[in-house]
Amino acid sequence: MEQVNINEKVVVITGASSGIGEAIARLLSALGARVVLGARRTDKLHTITTEIINAGGHAAYKQLDVTNPESVQSFAAFAIDQFDQIDVWINNAGLMPLSMINEYKVNEWNQMIDVNIKGVLHGIAAALPIFEAKDQGQFINITSVADRWVGPTSTVYSGTKFAVRAISDGLRQEVSNNIRVTLVAPGATESELAETISNPELKKLAIEKFRIDLLPAAAIARAVAFAINQPADVDVNEIVVRPTAQKSF
Ligand code: NDP
Repeated sequence: MEQVNINEKVVVITGASSGIGEAIARLLSALGARVVLGARRTDKLHTITTEIINAGGHAAYKQLDVTNPESVQSFAAFAIDQFDQIDVWINNAGLMPLSMINEYKVNEWNQMIDVNIKGVLHGIAAALPIFEAKDQGQFINITSVADRWVGPTSTVYSGTKFAVRAISDGLRQEVSNNIRVTLVAPGATESELAETISNPELKKLAIEKFRIDLLPAAAIARAVAFAINQPADVDVNEIVVRPTAQKSF
């Protein structure tokens, strides 16, 4: 990929301890970005960050809980402290505990709302003042094809992702002409996401029936890199990336 606009950028990534967030951190750092990784599992963040630095990249990590606005604010302050600026904020952290509504897994619904929706809003609240102060910056919100598709067991998960799609497009319209907002909607991708399904039968079904022909997480990282790499006056608004064999949702 010809490098127009990634090199030396400071890119903050929530949910960078596994799956898509980890792949984004690894690819962008290889392309010259300085990456700041956040998640709850610091052992994983430590390993990934150390590997990036050993490979010649620039990276730092901090424990982060996106459901807590203060934690997200101190994560942003940490990024500035480490690298003096933030150029791109990637709201990636997410959970997918699928279930039928009449299982009444109210705690899981609330967890998804807290991480998938409120976590994104907390990220926007932390980064937008920084972007507005220099009239420059980019949000990348990782939704899902479930931001435009809903089916049984996906009702609340899709609801959270529909919300983030709406929030992304509203944000894009409200911010200045120099701040970019990009939504990346993955189809089925290799990661730990299905681990959050608590019903063992549903988890088995999801893995055996739907989580086949998975994209490598690096495929989503390439889509993110494409959006960042455009010149500043080009805002890639939405990218949907499915496995070629994923036809039905
Ligand atoms: P993973 O489970 O591998 O990654 C989820 C990440 O979110 C982990 O790093 C996890 O870290 C982090 N996370 C969860 N809760 C919190 C929290 N409260 N605060 C901070 N970080 C948190 O799954 P994916 O990589 O697949 O998920 C990344 C995004 O991609 C999600 O938004 C998901 O909805 C979306 N997506 C994934 C698809 C797929 O098929 N894999 C398809 C469509 C969308 P930790 O536990 O250490 O906090």
